[in-house]
Amino acid sequence: MLWPLLFAGFLVVVVALKYLWPRAESCPQCASPREAGHPLCSSCGWIYEVPGEEDDDYGDPEEEEVRY
Ligand SMILES: [Zn+2]
Repeated sequence: MLWPLLFAGFLVVVVALKYLWPRAESCPQCASPREAGHPLCSSCGWIYEVPGEEDDDYGDPEEEEVRY
């Protein structure tokens, strides 16, 4: 009778860890901890994924091909 409760508690802990862990982000290339506010790794220059940045580069490529 206790196992379902233990399993539910285990799931809650895993989910909580998943949400808390990304705060301590580290470089995937050199594994050094990321400096807050820096989009680049200070050790190897790895470019971290910045949410929202990709949308800014989404222009219309065909727009430059317009001829008069
Ligand atoms: Zn790095």
